[in-house]
Amino acid sequence: MSEQLNRRRFLGSLASAAAVAAIPGAAVALPNARRPEFGDMLDVVIIGGGLAGLTTARDLRLAGNESFLVLEAQDRVGGRTLNHELGNGYISEAGGQWIGPGQTAVADLARELNIGTFTTYYEGKTVFLAGDGRVAMDLHGTFGSDEKIATKLDELARTVPSGAPWKAANAAELDKMSLGDWLIKQNLKPEDRIGWNIASMLSGGTMPTKMGLLHFLSMINSANSRYDQLDSIKDSAQETRFFGGSQILSIKMAEALGEKVRLSSPVRKISGWNQDVVSLHTDTGVVRARHVVMALTPSLCHQIQFDPPLPEMRRELQRRWPAHSPGRKTAHVYAKPFWREKGLNGHIIQANGPLLWAYDNSPPDGSIGVINCFVTQSMLPSDPKQAEPMLSAILAQGLGEEALRPLQFHDHDWGQDPWIISCVSAIPPGFWTRYGEALHPPLGNLIWSGTETADIWAGYMDGAVRSGHRAALQALQALRRV
Ligand SMILES: Cc1cc2nc3c(=O)[nH]c(=O)nc-3n(C[C@H](O)[C@H](O)[C@H](O)COP(=O)(O)OP(=O)(O)OC[C@H]3O[C@@H](n4cnc5c(N)ncnc54)[C@H](O)[C@@H]3O)c2cc1C
Repeated sequence: MSEQLNRRRFLGSLASAAAVAAIPGAAVALPNARRPEFGDMLDVVIIGGGLAGLTTARDLRLAGNESFLVLEAQDRVGGRTLNHELGNGYISEAGGQWIGPGQTAVADLARELNIGTFTTYYEGKTVFLAGDGRVAMDLHGTFGSDEKIATKLDELARTVPSGAPWKAANAAELDKMSLGDWLIKQNLKPEDRIGWNIASMLSGGTMPTKMGLLHFLSMINSANSRYDQLDSIKDSAQETRFFGGSQILSIKMAEALGEKVRLSSPVRKISGWNQDVVSLHTDTGVVRARHVVMALTPSLCHQIQFDPPLPEMRRELQRRWPAHSPGRKTAHVYAKPFWREKGLNGHIIQANGPLLWAYDNSPPDGSIGVINCFVTQSMLPSDPKQAEPMLSAILAQGLGEEALRPLQFHDHDWGQDPWIISCVSAIPPGFWTRYGEALHPPLGNLIWSGTETADIWAGYMDGAVRSGHRAALQALQALRRV
């Protein structure tokens, strides 16, 4: 081999290394996993380096296919999972973080990647704040929801298939109503309404008046048709955390995939999706593939230009897909979890204030104290410097004046992230029965993936992993047909 070629190869590999520099250990790829070049014809290109897209890529490799590439818009992997680095190896999750019973796909993935789990801290009393009022109660790992109402919802949820709510026998009737309409009919006391407002905001990203009843029921259906398995901590979807934070799942997958993950490469346009060769136009060049896995939210698919245009029904589904569910999460860091010594679990629920829910997000050994807050975006200044003291004062009302002096404050507003926009999909009444049919069927060589397309636990990390496995199978089957 000539010296010149050697030098070119060396420079090429330096450029490759720079492109994947944000992925620690990215060089650890299989020997035959060379970096795909522009102009290559690939079997599969995956758009989106979140849990769904990386799971698909990992499965393709496990199936022996090396002709694939992941295109990720941002300079990091993980999508809606993101670790705030707190120093000394500590982290706090800014995005998705918990898993719970029935979420076997993400749990299996964690086991395969050697990522351990631990139980969310909930021992002690939860504090409720309303104006100057403060009450502390031991809820034993629940959110204290109304059992009678929850049982009624469970019964209805059994009739609504989680992955395709529009296929429920009574879909038309249920989809006319919002969760709020339905709750009004239950004659709730005003104080009980507050609890449901917060639950709807936290699980569904919107108030009950804007949340489709059919959609809410499909979420409960995922949780084994048990509302308490969706919206509590113990035995529920908020029960378990990952050592190293949830983003570690994506980081580890990307490490192993090495140069098969191309960062900072937003896909702007897809042409020829109905032809044998699909072209993906990115900021760094054009990539060609036989099949494309769209591992991103429908509203973000809408930001991509399709040539020829997609059929009307799919276009409308993407255009009208609810984006901008305000998802803003903060982290206060303290020297120790001082609230635990007072018999408090660090959980605070505030009625009619900027704080939706504060919870203890300390590391498993409690060696430092971390309180994370979900906040109502519109009620808190967007500047973190102003937001921090306001939130600290609320935490102090709930936990004691030590809360006024955090060592660190982190603030992440997902609505400001152009490649995420929304944390969950707040599906309004009437949406599923009108556009649901366009969610799954592949179009030409496009395969739809991402948590929103999952059969169960859509909207959750588990759903993302499930959708990733399914998309890999779809791609492999399509390649076999060719
Ligand atoms: C604040 C918050 C709290 C949450 N809490 C939980 C929880 O506790 N438990 C739970 O299970 N789930 C939770 N979730 C949801 C969970 O994080 C998501 O369901 C899951 O991470 C989605 O994975 P995904 O791969 O389907 O999509 P994403 O993570 O959104 O990945 C899509 C990727 O596509 C990229 N992309 C977008 N457009 C383009 C383009 N044009 N070209 C290239 N790349 C593009 C994006 O940058 C992104 O990396 C939470 C989410 C948020 C934001």
